[in-house]
Formats: sequence, C-alpha cells, structure tokens
Amino acid sequence: MKQKVDDLALFGGPAAFLHPLFVGRPSIGDRARLLERLNWALDNKWLTNGGPLLREFEERVADLAGVRNCVATCNATTALQLMYRAMELSGEVVMPSMTFIATAHAARMAGLEPVFCDIDPVTGCIDPREAEAAVTSRTSAIVGVHLFGRPSPIDELAKVAAEHGLRLAFDAAHALGCGYQGRRIGGFGAAEVFSFHATKVVNTFEGGAVVTDDDALAQHLRSLNAFGAGADGRIERVGTNAKMSEAAAAMGLTSLDAFDQTVRHNRANHALYRSELLGVDGVSVFSFDEDESPNCQYVVVTIDEAVTGIHRDLLMRVLRAENVVPQRYFSPACHQVEPYRSERPVELPHTERLADQVLVLPTGPAVTGEDIRRVCDIVRCAVLRGRRVTERFRRGTDQATASR
Ligand SMILES: *Cc1c(COP(=O)(O)O)cnc(C)c1O
Repeated sequence: MKQKVDDLALFGGPAAFLHPLFVGRPSIGDRARLLERLNWALDNKWLTNGGPLLREFEERVADLAGVRNCVATCNATTALQLMYRAMELSGEVVMPSMTFIATAHAARMAGLEPVFCDIDPVTGCIDPREAEAAVTSRTSAIVGVHLFGRPSPIDELAKVAAEHGLRLAFDAAHALGCGYQGRRIGGFGAAEVFSFHATKVVNTFEGGAVVTDDDALAQHLRSLNAFGAGADGRIERVGTNAKMSEAAAAMGLTSLDAFDQTVRHNRANHALYRSELLGVDGVSVFSFDEDESPNCQYVVVTIDEAVTGIHRDLLMRVLRAENVVPQRYFSPACHQVEPYRSERPVELPHTERLADQVLVLPTGPAVTGEDIRRVCDIVRCAVLRGRRVTERFRRGTDQATASR
C-alpha cells in the first residue's frame, strides 16, 4: 500500500511492479494450436491467396458479427481505405475527431476530406446532431466509430444519413463481439471495419476486415483487395494488394478460440477497476451496458484535474515510474494534429475535454486481479493527494531547471 507522496516511485519510493504492465498485451491463446496451424500451412505450402485458414477465419468473423460477408485484410487502416473506395464516396466525409488517426488518414488516402464533428460527452461517440451540423453540399457519407466498443447512436445516425441522402459506415475496430439493441456490431450501415492489430482483443499480428451484408459491395471489396481481379481472376479495375496471409489467419483463429475466455476475463477486470476506483472524486471509469455485450478490451478512465488537483499527464508519469504503462487513447484528437489542424481548424469542446482527461489502464488476459488492486492503489494514492503531488513535481522540476 502506498500511503504518502514519498511512497510514489516518481519521488523515490520503490516501484510497484518489477516488470512493465502494458495496455493491449496480445491475447495469443493456445500456442500449441497456433503452431499446429502454422505447420499445416507449411506442410501444405499454402501461405496466402485465399487459403483454407483465411477462409475459416473470414467465416468465423462473419459469424461473430452476424453478417453474410467478411473480407480480411493486412490491417484495418487498409480495410478502411478499401471500404471508402468500394462505397465510391467523394468529397467530404463526416466523422468524430475522437478516434484513432487511422479513421481519418484512411479517408484522406482514399482521396476524401475528413470533416470532424463533436461527440456526446457521456458516451464519447459521435453526436448525431453535431454530425448533421457538419453536413455540406459536398458531404457523401457519415462514418461512426464505436469508441472503446460502445456502439455509436446508430439509429439516429441512419436517420440523419437518410434525410441528407448520405451513406453510412462504421469504424468498428474496438467492437468485435459487441452489440447494439440485440444485434451484433458488423451489420450496420453499408459496412463496418474490425482491426486485428496485435493490441486488439482478437489479433492476427497485423490484420483487419471489412464486414457487410451487401454482397455486391463485398465482391467489390474482394476485387480491390486483390489487384482489381474479378471472381474469374481477370483484372477489371484498379486495385491493390491488401490480402491477409495464412500465418496471420492462423493467429486469428487461435486468438478467436480464446475470445470468450478473454472477454470474460476483461469483464471481470473492468468490474474490479470500477469497484476499486468507486468514490475517488474526479476519477470516473467508463461503464458499459451489459445488454450491449461489451468486450471490455479497454479500461478507460477520465481524470478531472479541477477536482483532483492532478492532471492526467502527471498521473501518467506517476504510473510509469511504477512500471505501469497507460495510454492516452485518443489524445491529441484527430482535429488537433496535422494536417487537419492547419487545414481546417475547428473547435470541438467535448472532444477536447475528453482528449485532455482520458487515460486507458492495463487490462487483458495477462493482467490479474492483484495487478489491478496495485494499479488502483497507486491511482488512489496520487489522486487523493493530487495537489501535493502536483506541487512536489513542480518543485522538483524547478530545482532541476535551476541547477542546470
Ligand atoms: C486500431 C484502430 C485502427 C487501425 O487498425 P490497424 O489494424 O492498426 O490498422 C483504426 N481505427 C481505430 C478506432 C483503431 O483503434
């Protein structure tokens, strides 16, 4: 237990963890099964181009998402580009700024102009009224992001899109296995994109997928994914090579085998964080709706400096000194970085506030209940003495500056 400011490793106390505790340690699953699958691919000398492991992976992702089609890719950023292109969008695309930069950059790489709008401060997801206010005569689509696995306000967005004759699609990178009003994330809008990056709840080392119920769109995506080839192999359009390999699919299948167990573990971790941080003023843990089948792959807290006396960035330093490595997902927000910041300056107060306060804490299969109790002990120790920690840190840096 850390009971005073001096107990914190930032000020000379012993670090709480011997080895770093990370956000998004990969969930690997049964290693023997992974090696069996890799050996199978090697024995059969089938390493890529629509192999059996890839087909099985695509089928299982489509099942999990409750959709007819899954097109797996080498990563989700490329999957987003393929999705934007296959939807034949043009001009501007309205999206939340509170997302990973890839949502925006992929649009830009596909020749579109991302236009950022503000979020609902409670859910962190795109606010449909703000999305509507950002629509111009050049807008072709709205892209929602199911932030941290919480579904976007899909019905309201669909209404706005229909009223303005716009397409709708989703970056569902965080939302594998999650639901919205009794349906699985995956089948909403024209298409949705999952990420299977090593840090995500299911991983293929690197990987992504577009899922859709639209068969024609799926056909178009498959073609863009493989050099513009049609079903018969003849080239019929410009395309790229964004295929997922058999090795990646082998990892994905093994990671999927462990998915239910991973989610159970993550939910228990999330509940423990909530109870450990309950009643700490100025610290709130993002909650999930049980009915929305959350995968709880992120434990997201906000640190309100006006209440705690300690800024999120200083708390992050405190934790790092203890060998806890949190993340600032997503700070700065997309509209706060180049080129968007210079090209199209906007003020998005709810996004800016969340980006200033958000902190993502370690969870996942490798993080135990005992780890979480120790992380929360550090957070409580620093936050309950927030003003003193801040003063002490400032004094320390003043002295360091003076003696230089
Ligand atoms: C991880 C992530 C991506 C990009 O995924 P990659 O597979 O790393 O390209 C896109 N959008 C969001 C919201 C993400 O978190």
